[in-house]
Amino acid sequence: MKKTILFFLSISLFINGCRRPVLPQVQVPPTVSTEPTRDDNLALGNPMAGRPEGPDNFLIRRTTYALSYNRQRGIANWVSWHLSQAWKGSAQRANEFRPDPLLPADWPIIRTSDYTNTGFDRGHLCPSDDRDGSASDNATTFFLSNIVPQSPRHNREVWRLLEEFERKLIDGGNEVYIIAGPTGTGGAGQNGAANTIANGKITVPALLWKIIVVLPVGTDDLNRINSNTRVIAVGIPNEPSAADKPWQAYLTSVDALEKRTGYDFLSNVPADIQRIIEARIDGRNS
Ligand code: MN
Ligand code: MN
Repeated sequence: MKKTILFFLSISLFINGCRRPVLPQVQVPPTVSTEPTRDDNLALGNPMAGRPEGPDNFLIRRTTYALSYNRQRGIANWVSWHLSQAWKGSAQRANEFRPDPLLPADWPIIRTSDYTNTGFDRGHLCPSDDRDGSASDNATTFFLSNIVPQSPRHNREVWRLLEEFERKLIDGGNEVYIIAGPTGTGGAGQNGAANTIANGKITVPALLWKIIVVLPVGTDDLNRINSNTRVIAVGIPNEPSAADKPWQAYLTSVDALEKRTGYDFLSNVPADIQRIIEARIDGRNS
């Protein structure tokens, strides 16, 4: 009897000894960096790729953003920039609007006085607050190539809240790619409707549009974009009453903005993924 018990005891000890130790399940995160970096402002593609460069498509690439300028309109076609915590800091708002020194010297010069008393704000495309990592970074957002005649309430209410939402996204562990621009002709400011200001030198756009691609902080961004990637697209008319509604009321699809502008957004993203994410309208509002 005693021998039998010892026999089974030794058998069970042997089996237990052979069992692999149970290790706690460790979730190995995918190989992404948690440190935000400053990434390529044009990583998702040039919206006018394949078109000839010239006075109506003059490409400017600076550290802080990429921009296509239109001489005839006196404003950009689009501005594209990456936003992450790595771009953020505590630099003061430069507040000095200046002609863009990278534009050809013999083109009409857009000056800050061209906007004075027009009834339109000097509206940033790439916002000052997205580029406050240093004084020199911030100063680049005040180049007038990054500025459009924007209806004051549009600028200070609905568009500003959208800009703040973008920064909330990066506070929440994301990095985002933003492409924004003006399209069409004719908006309304404090002095009523206008097609141009500064004696025709600067076109007043009819609509300001924006595309926001949201990714959790990581590396190799372009290759992480898939059919589930959140893409927010809006088009907001350049008139005071636009501010009566929140930006969420102006959600649209990238496809609709491509039709409206004639550009191809996110052109570096594989076509099958573009097809899916560009047709979608963001359903999430926060
Ligand atoms: Mn603004
Ligand atoms: Mn596209």
